[in-house]
Amino acid sequence: MAESKRDYYEVLGVPKNADDSAIKSAYRKLAKKYHPDMNPGDKDAEAKFKEASEAYAVLSDPDKRRQYDQFGHAAFEQGAPGGYGGFDFSSMDFTDIFGDLFGDLFGGGRTRSSRSYNGPMKGQNLRASVRITFEEAVFGCEKEIEPLQRDECKTCHGTGAKPGSSPITCSKCGGKGQVVFTSQSLFGTVRNVQTCPDCGGTGKMIKDKCPDCRGLGYISSRKKLSVSIPAGIDSGQSVRLREKGEPGVNGGPRGDLLVEVIVAPHPIFQRRDMDIFSAAPISFAVAALGGDILIDTVDGKVSYTVKAGTQTDTKVRLKGKGVPSLRSANVRGDHYVTLVVQTPSKLSGEAKKLLREFDAETGDSLSAVERYKASKAGGGEEQEKKKRGFRK
Ligand SMILES: [Zn+2]
Ligand SMILES: [Zn+2]
Repeated sequence: MAESKRDYYEVLGVPKNADDSAIKSAYRKLAKKYHPDMNPGDKDAEAKFKEASEAYAVLSDPDKRRQYDQFGHAAFEQGAPGGYGGFDFSSMDFTDIFGDLFGDLFGGGRTRSSRSYNGPMKGQNLRASVRITFEEAVFGCEKEIEPLQRDECKTCHGTGAKPGSSPITCSKCGGKGQVVFTSQSLFGTVRNVQTCPDCGGTGKMIKDKCPDCRGLGYISSRKKLSVSIPAGIDSGQSVRLREKGEPGVNGGPRGDLLVEVIVAPHPIFQRRDMDIFSAAPISFAVAALGGDILIDTVDGKVSYTVKAGTQTDTKVRLKGKGVPSLRSANVRGDHYVTLVVQTPSKLSGEAKKLLREFDAETGDSLSAVERYKASKAGGGEEQEKKKRGFRK
């Protein structure tokens, strides 16, 4: 293995005395060219990418580079005299270089015309939305959507030009994609750089348009896609379908499809994060005497024992009857129920009679005013009436 290894400087194509920035820029060039994401399934490119990454890992580290200059590849073999006891590729920190490298390659939302890079580029992300019910959001579901997707036109392979012809250089901007306008103002000549109006910034014009895509380079069609919506998702959150977005450029991967979930309101449940809120009616008898009631939850009806002497608007918690966590389906929020005491509005004669008896037994509230008047009878009753605003 060691004998077949190429010299690290040779791999990166830099001289032995190259400085750090030359090494970095040489590696960036190679990494862009051979990155596995840009060359799916290409073993040769993958090997080249690994070779370049290894060379960069060593030459970008002052200590390792010194070792390598002194001992060559032997410095990183098992049991090497001054070596590191084997070259541990996995422990290398590539965040620095990959951070800005991927920033270049996969930068979200960057438009094609904003830079002159002509290598493979990931396509733009696409957005879609799907409506689901409250319960579907709580327990997860599978949904089918049919977004409008663009595919490279097979007839012209995305060029937009009729087969046999090819795009010509835009005469307005000379292929630069930008035009400079000069205008006179009070302050002298003003230069304005604008995207070329003729070619839209591509620098190319299509003379004979491809008949299949009418010069667009792509064909749009609706495609059925299945979306797995995880339990616990909330309105406004999105599910990412990798590589189902816009086609890539120059052989790059497709962008992603971001499906925004819109959850329909529920007639009785409200939700805040992982908790569910609702109100449950209870009768005056249950509130006063205590007893079991049935409460609607997303898991169906559950029985709950109301304590004797419960006031209206008392809040109770049904533990673990809320929404599952997106991260772990075993973790669930709670369901908070407001118990609302119902006042009966339709009573039979018998019920009314019993209620009057009940009242007489429990403080006689029905005749409280009469009792008050009687206690004031004789002296100062009229004055008291005025003060309190009583009217006959
Ligand atoms: Zn075409
Ligand atoms: Zn142009």
